[in-house]
Amino acid sequence: MQPESQKHWKYCSQCGQTVQPGAKYCANCGEALQERYVGGYASPNLIRVKKSEDPRARTSRRVDSIRGYAIYVTDKRLFGMRTGGQAKAFVSEFAFGILSPVRGKREATKPIRELENERDVEVHAQDVTAIRIKAPSTVGQLFLAPTGHMKIETEAGEVLQLLSTYNRDIEELRKLMEAFKPEALRID
Ligand SMILES: [Zn+2]
Repeated sequence: MQPESQKHWKYCSQCGQTVQPGAKYCANCGEALQERYVGGYASPNLIRVKKSEDPRARTSRRVDSIRGYAIYVTDKRLFGMRTGGQAKAFVSEFAFGILSPVRGKREATKPIRELENERDVEVHAQDVTAIRIKAPSTVGQLFLAPTGHMKIETEAGEVLQLLSTYNRDIEELRKLMEAFKPEALRID
């Protein structure tokens, strides 16, 4: 099995041309075709909010939320996926009798193939126009309100909005986004 760094693309991510299997560079535009895994962060406290895709949904149901989320980045793409962290988060909250944050974790490595299979969202770095990050407010943390956020925007619009009550989640995401696309980072 070939290592992930040797993974080849069927289509050039830069110009969309079909590329020869095993090619290191796109014959059309010269883009490097190999992709490198950078890192990830998963937390049961991260919440993805999105507008419902069901046009028949009533006003009160137009926002879906997923609790327990993870972000992984390569040098070309960002992947978002659910972690199934909800059950774990509730267990921990009730086990201790208080609402305390469940620790998120940095992921050392994750095969790119796995990211492609488990993704909920995928964004190419070249399409990202802004990554907006806001640290949670002190009052928000006190009242367990998810006031911290990370929003990823492309020219087509917002593609990903994550919320968290906890500073640690937002701080880890900020570090990850600095590795992903620092020139797009905006601290709100
Ligand atoms: Zn190309």
